Amino acid sequence: MAADNFQSNMVLETTPSGEDRPQRLLIDCGSDARHSLRNLGFMPNDFDGVYISHLHSDHIGGLEWMALANYFVFDGHRTQLFAARELLDPLWEHSLRGGLETSDHGNSKLSSYFDVVPLTPKDGFDWKGMHFDVIPTPHVVTPENTMYSFALFGTGTEKSFFLTTDAIFNPKDHMAFYKKADIIFQDCELGPRHSGVHAHYDELITLPDDVKAKMWLYHYQAYDKPDAVADGFCGFIDPEQSFDLG
Ligand SMILES: [Zn+2]
Ligand SMILES: [Zn+2]
Repeated sequence: MAADNFQSNMVLETTPSGEDRPQRLLIDCGSDARHSLRNLGFMPNDFDGVYISHLHSDHIGGLEWMALANYFVFDGHRTQLFAARELLDPLWEHSLRGGLETSDHGNSKLSSYFDVVPLTPKDGFDWKGMHFDVIPTPHVVTPENTMYSFALFGTGTEKSFFLTTDAIFNPKDHMAFYKKADIIFQDCELGPRHSGVHAHYDELITLPDDVKAKMWLYHYQAYDKPDAVADGFCGFIDPEQSFDLG
């Protein structure tokens, strides 16, 4: 099935006091980021940081483009690369090294292109006056292994938000974050198939009304959308939709 939407490349923008231009954090950089960001008028050097939730290509597939464009086209513009520490080696060894290792500045590493910031869930990280909790959440669970995605709970001066990233339906572990967030961005699968690696709409609809009332749905497939507002949700996020996070 063809997608009728972009991947979940999210731009968090803030202008801290004392700065004359907005600072931007890109939350996940999928393989179509080049096109979706261009539609918003952004180039790779418009970002000060990138956060990576997990290693599927719809979340990291644009990093090689970003690295090469910043290095060669935008005068070596550097962004911070925030990711859970355990993702960094496999990100380089299994996903990026083939295209980025050999360059004109000798054998390169991830740190040749990005200011790498390894994260631990215990500490989270701060970015431009906001604090982010980093929450490991099961995404692909098999008998041999569990692949985690790292959700974010962001706290700003006025509002907080919970961004599930890709995650199985997990009300037990997520409820505390659902309850305390002012706004929830929830991975939502549509269609007849329940993949078992994303929360499905049929599952999300069973959440308490007060949770659904602040929940926006994203990462959905190109099936006909149910009437999410009638079902108590805020709705499905459209491409280029923006939110005021205070
Ligand atoms: Zn995924
Ligand atoms: Zn995904």
